[in-house]
Amino acid sequence: MSASSPVEDCLFCRIVAGDVPADVVHRSDTTLAFRDVNPQAPTHVLVVPQEHHVDAAALARDAPATVAHLVDAARMVAAAEGLDDGYRLVFNAGAQAGQTVFHVHLHLLGGRDLGWPPG
Ligand code: 5GP
Ligand code: ZN
Repeated sequence: MSASSPVEDCLFCRIVAGDVPADVVHRSDTTLAFRDVNPQAPTHVLVVPQEHHVDAAALARDAPATVAHLVDAARMVAAAEGLDDGYRLVFNAGAQAGQTVFHVHLHLLGGRDLGWPPG
């Protein structure tokens, strides 16, 4: 099985396949964007590649163009959400950084002041 084949027990592969419901806000040939079920800001959307890759580094290595597709999809969602004053994009990579779903996802956060440094 290649790194990008759907993974049966992967939550985000199942959302991409339509087997788990999600509030989808944007879709492209290579990406899917849907609202986080536990939002940390008024806008909290997850942008994922439709193919399975574990984290951002693996995606950059194996499908580098898709990294740009994720960022571009986030830009379009941010515009649609009216985040004209700015937004934050986050990849959590690894358990210590808080990654809990090991199908790479770009967090798009906006709609409130976002502190720095993050927790
Ligand atoms: P991580 O902690 O891996 O960076 O982010 C995983 C995100 O997925 C979390 O923000 C969590 O709230 C979200 N999440 C977990 N399960 C589901 C789900 O079933 N549906 C949706 N839409 N988001 C989920
Ligand atoms: Zn997956």
